[in-house]
Amino acid sequence: MMVDRDDSWYRLAACTGLPTALFFPDPTRPDPASVAEAKTVCGRCPVVEQCRDAGASEAHGIWGGLTASERHAVDRPAPQEAA
Ligand code: SF4
Repeated sequence: MMVDRDDSWYRLAACTGLPTALFFPDPTRPDPASVAEAKTVCGRCPVVEQCRDAGASEAHGIWGGLTASERHAVDRPAPQEAA
């Protein structure tokens, strides 16, 4: 089944033309300097919110300036306080 998604926002992406590998570091051994470089690019991207939404369920890569573990931490509900 084909999913109709509007990904026209990507035309404004600050990462256009940069190496894809910069945004998809090795998940077993991510290079902190490379991750920081990717986040710097995301920090000046005009479509960071759209990218973060698009990558919310992605298992790998840096989307909207967040790594996979950071995205999943954002999605996780806050622990309930004991009554
Ligand atoms: S937020 Fe980062 S990964 Fe997403 S489109 Fe912008 S530069 Fe690319």
